[in-house]
Amino acid sequence: MYRSHTCGELRETHINTKVTLSGWVQKTRDKGFVVWVDLRDRYGITQLVFDEDRTSSKLLEQARHLGREFVVQVTGEVIERSSKNPNLATGDIEVLVDEVIILNESKTPPFTIENETDGGEDLRMKYRYLDIRRNPVKNNLIFRSKVSMEVRKYLSDQNFIEVETPYLIKSTPEGARDFVVPSRMNEGQFYALPQSPQTFKQLLMVGGMDKYFQIVKCFRDEDLRADRQPEFTQIDCEMAFVEQEDILDAFEGLTKHLLKEIKGVKISAFPRITYDDAMRIYGNDKPDIRFGMEFGELNAVAQHKDFGVFNSAELVVGIAVPGAASYTRKELDALVNWVKRPQVGANGMVYAKYNEDGSFKSTVDKFYDQEDLAKWAEATQAKPGDLICVLSGDANKTRAQLSALRMELAERLGLRNADEFAPLWVIDFPLLELDEETGNYHAMHHPFTSPKPGQLELLETDPGAVRANAYDLVLNGNEIGGGSIRIHDRDVQSTMFKHLGFTPEEAQAQFGFLMDAFQYGAPPHGGIAFGLDRLVSILGGQETIRDFIAFPKNNSGRDVMIDAPAAIDQEQLRELSLKIDIKA
Ligand code: ASP
Repeated sequence: MYRSHTCGELRETHINTKVTLSGWVQKTRDKGFVVWVDLRDRYGITQLVFDEDRTSSKLLEQARHLGREFVVQVTGEVIERSSKNPNLATGDIEVLVDEVIILNESKTPPFTIENETDGGEDLRMKYRYLDIRRNPVKNNLIFRSKVSMEVRKYLSDQNFIEVETPYLIKSTPEGARDFVVPSRMNEGQFYALPQSPQTFKQLLMVGGMDKYFQIVKCFRDEDLRADRQPEFTQIDCEMAFVEQEDILDAFEGLTKHLLKEIKGVKISAFPRITYDDAMRIYGNDKPDIRFGMEFGELNAVAQHKDFGVFNSAELVVGIAVPGAASYTRKELDALVNWVKRPQVGANGMVYAKYNEDGSFKSTVDKFYDQEDLAKWAEATQAKPGDLICVLSGDANKTRAQLSALRMELAERLGLRNADEFAPLWVIDFPLLELDEETGNYHAMHHPFTSPKPGQLELLETDPGAVRANAYDLVLNGNEIGGGSIRIHDRDVQSTMFKHLGFTPEEAQAQFGFLMDAFQYGAPPHGGIAFGLDRLVSILGGQETIRDFIAFPKNNSGRDVMIDAPAAIDQEQLRELSLKIDIKA
C-alpha cells in the first residue's frame, strides 16, 4: 500500500495516528538538528518533520538528501504543529517520519513547481507535465473536468444521447482548411479530420436519435490568430423536430445550469439582438454588453458642416467614454495613436470633451459650435464628464475600428468585470457572406444552414440580403456557441450548393451522402455547438484557452513537448505512396 491518506487530508483529528503518505518533495528546510519537508500531491501539501531526537540521525541524513521533485513514500505519526499555518488545509499538523522510501529520484526541475514559477511560457510548455503539477494549471484542469461533468449531467437529464462520430472522414466545411490523413490501404486517397461533426449529427437526426450531444475534438487548419488551437473541443448538439425557439430555450437552460452550478450565479435574462443591430450598435457580432458605450451615428448631425473628412465619409460614428473628459492631452494623443495602429487601422480620430460644466471642447471646434456638439452628445448618450470619440470612413471598417476602441477603453476603465456574466443571443445572421477578394459568396455559418422561411427566392435576386435561421450565443464579448436550423430537403440543399459555386457533380461527390439521406425522411432539425475551451476559460475568469488545455499547441501549431509535427521516414512515405516536394 503506497498511502493511507493523501497529502491534503490530514487534520487535527488524525493526531497520534500512524499514516503512510506518497508524493513529491516540494521543498526541504534544514535547521541542522531538524529537517522539514513539504510533501505534495494533487490534493495538497503535508509538512513532514525529521527530528534527530525523536527519530534517528540516519533518517535525518536521508531527509537532507531528498531533492526537489523526488517521489517518496513516508510513514510516521501525525503530531500537532507547534507553529500552525492557517493558510494550509493541513496546517495544524505535521508528520513525524520514521521511515522514508525513495520511489523515484528526479533531476532538478527546469523551473520551480510552485504557484508563482520562474519558468517562462516556452519552458513550461516543453515540460508541460511539470507545469501540470503546479496549482494554477492543475486547478484549471480540475475546473474543466467539473464543467464537462455538469454539461453531461444537464444534457443527459434533458434526454440527450452522447454519440461518438468518426474522426477519419471527408471534408466538413466550417470555413477553415482541413487537416488530411493519407490512407495506406487506399493509395492516393485521404481522409479529412472533422472541422466539426456537422454532417454526422444531421445524419443522426435522419437516423431518429432525436437529441444528440457529444463532447468532441474538432480540427481546423487555420492561421492561428490569438488564442486559437488547431484542435479544440466542442459541446456539439443536434435536435429533431425543433424550431429556432426550441434550441435557444434548451441552451439557455444549459448555460443557466452551468453558471449556477459552477459560479453560483443566477441569470434570468438572455437578451436577443439581431446581427444587423449588433453591427450597428456595437460594430461587432459578439458584443460585450456588460457596459454601455453604444455607438451613436452622427451622419445627420456632423455632415455638411465644412469638415471634409466627415462629409466624404460613408459613416460618422462615435461613443461616449465614461469619465474620460479628464484625460490629459498626452493620454488623448496616445489614444489617437492607438486607433491609428495598423491592427486597428483608423486614419485618425476626432474627439470632444463634454466638460463637467456642460461645455464642450473638441478637436474640430473650427467646424462645430457648442450646439452641434450637444447633438453629438445626444446621439452618443454622453454625460458631462465623458469623452466623445468619433471615427469616420467606410461603414464596415469604421464600425470594426470603433468596436476595437470600445473594447480597449472598457478594458482600461475596468468595465470588463470577470465576475459578471452577461449572455446574449445574436440572431438573424446573413446566410451568405461576400468574399471581397474573389467576389464569391460563401456560407456565413456553413452550407447546411437554412434560409429564413420564404427567402429562398431572394437567393436568386439579392443573395446578400437573405437571412438565416442562425444564432450565436455570446458571453461577455466572446462567441461561446453557434448554430442554426438546417436544410432538410434535398432540393433546397442542392440549390444552396449551387449558390455556393458547386457544380451538381461536385456537390454530389462531396455531399451526395447527405443529400441522399434527405430523400429518406429527414426530419426538420437544428443544433448548436459550444466551444468548450473558451467557455471554461470564461467561467474560470481567464482569457486564454491554452491555460485550460492539458497539452496545448503553441502559436505555430506545434506541440513543443512531443515535438510535433515532425517528418516521417522514407519507408512510411513509401507505404503511403507519398513523395515530399517542399517548395523553396
Ligand atoms: N458545426 C457548427 C460549428 O462548428 C455548429 C452547428 O451549426 O451546430 O460551428
